[in-house]
Amino acid sequence: MTPNSKKRYDCGEIEDLYQQYIDNELTDEQKKLFEEHLEYCLPCDKKISFELKLKEYIQSKAANIPVSETPKFDIIKIINRPS
Ligand SMILES: [Zn+2]
Repeated sequence: MTPNSKKRYDCGEIEDLYQQYIDNELTDEQKKLFEEHLEYCLPCDKKISFELKLKEYIQSKAANIPVSETPKFDIIKIINRPS
């Protein structure tokens, strides 16, 4: 396996990695490839910008709730809660 054998991510890989991307856990190389994919793939671009906005929204809504006490179903409730 050569380091340059893989130059582009496909949509499945974006799907696998977006959570880490949003959490800023990708390596510089992964991040570069990820962002490169978003530049030519509109569906992924839309999905990721939605996820990023959602994360910001959750963080603003959940700012006072300790993360360890915020299971996913509660996050859904927070999102659906009328403001
Ligand atoms: Zn894609």
